Amino acid sequence: MLLGAIADDLTGATDLALTLSRGGMKVLQVVGVPSPDARFDDADAVVVSLKSRTIPAAEAVAMSVAAGKVLLAAGARQLFFKYCSTFDSTDEGNIGPVTDALLDLLGEARTIACPAFPTNKRTVYKGHLFVGDLLLSDSPMKDHPLTPMRDANLARVLGRQTKTPVVLLDHDQVRAGADALSRSLAAVDGIAIVDAVSDDDLRTIGAAVSGLRLITGGSGVALGLPEMFRQAGLFRPITPPVTLAAPPGRAAIIAGSCSAATRRQIEMAQAQGAPSLQVEATDIAEHRMTVDDAAAFIERSAGSLAPIVYSSADPQKIRLVQEQLGRSRAGELVEHFMGQLAQELTQRGFTRLIVAGGETSGAVIHSLGVTALEIGPEIDPGVPWTLSSGAGPQLALALKSGNFGADDFFLKAWERLQ
Ligand code: ADP
Repeated sequence: MLLGAIADDLTGATDLALTLSRGGMKVLQVVGVPSPDARFDDADAVVVSLKSRTIPAAEAVAMSVAAGKVLLAAGARQLFFKYCSTFDSTDEGNIGPVTDALLDLLGEARTIACPAFPTNKRTVYKGHLFVGDLLLSDSPMKDHPLTPMRDANLARVLGRQTKTPVVLLDHDQVRAGADALSRSLAAVDGIAIVDAVSDDDLRTIGAAVSGLRLITGGSGVALGLPEMFRQAGLFRPITPPVTLAAPPGRAAIIAGSCSAATRRQIEMAQAQGAPSLQVEATDIAEHRMTVDDAAAFIERSAGSLAPIVYSSADPQKIRLVQEQLGRSRAGELVEHFMGQLAQELTQRGFTRLIVAGGETSGAVIHSLGVTALEIGPEIDPGVPWTLSSGAGPQLALALKSGNFGADDFFLKAWERLQ
């Protein structure tokens, strides 16, 4: 194993796994801390997905270190700590504490922190994180319900979370090329925030970090890693898969994301004639809608286009429901329902599922008892088809973070399955 990665959420882990897979690496995504006797077969990279972004820092540290130990014992040459490209965290953690703990585990004193993901318009310049044309602190992230980001200066943000010194390697040092950057890195004692405004910068950084045992950042910084491993003669890239040999069986779509992209995807599929059923949190709460009802609807509707069960609704409607039920109860009700529905469908012989929504995907994976995902072909940036393994039958799963995917995602995704 060349790279052992630890990601702080599920769809972020998939995004990282896909980046590595597109670079020709054989990638396995594992759900939760793997057991010490886990087998990773011939994977070049293993990405462990945790749900540790917003849990107490001590718990995030414990889980991340446990995962790091298993990955190192399985032979990982380098560790990668993956977090969100908008550096989602609070002054209490978790990016700083987990980075410190992984450095301790490795007995190392230096790493980088680079959340840049230029394809998704996240860039870092002079240590400041931009979302599109806006500083992070002026972007909608300033109002995030769990991790409001009100400071765009990453050295300051991270400095409040870690005792390790934080320094800046700015764009001039990146532009100087991989060798020069590698020498700059070797002189760092602590965590270096590294500027990156383009994919070329990320490739330079990828080539320069061969000597680091720990790399931290968004999925973007993984862009240059497969090439770095190839140049070091450590692996031979394989052609990334373009289709997936999916288990035979019927298909369905479960959407619990209310994001604009998901709602457009549902509308487009409906316009093409896809059967769909909308479920409401209040109907679930008052037992007017049961998992059996939804599963029966899907079973009745199986036809040329995959049927959709969705809870997605516009923000105004969601706000009303949240006022009625409470925000977390409404979310939990819907997540639990979608998880149970996925389980019911697989029991009825469905083997191909698209799930829209990060938290929703987490609930579905949990309910299905899936423990690992083999990364297959890319459908749209950041979203691959995957093959599950775990307690239940093997499934083809596409787990989509709410805002990901083009409008025709629900229609075209199936073309990649054999
Ligand atoms: P995204 O990736 O778009 O953020 P998530 O699945 O992560 O999507 O989050 C959506 C949240 O909204 C989940 O907790 C989900 O249960 C909740 N939710 C979805 N539909 C409804 C609804 N109709 N009423 C209340 N909450 C909902």
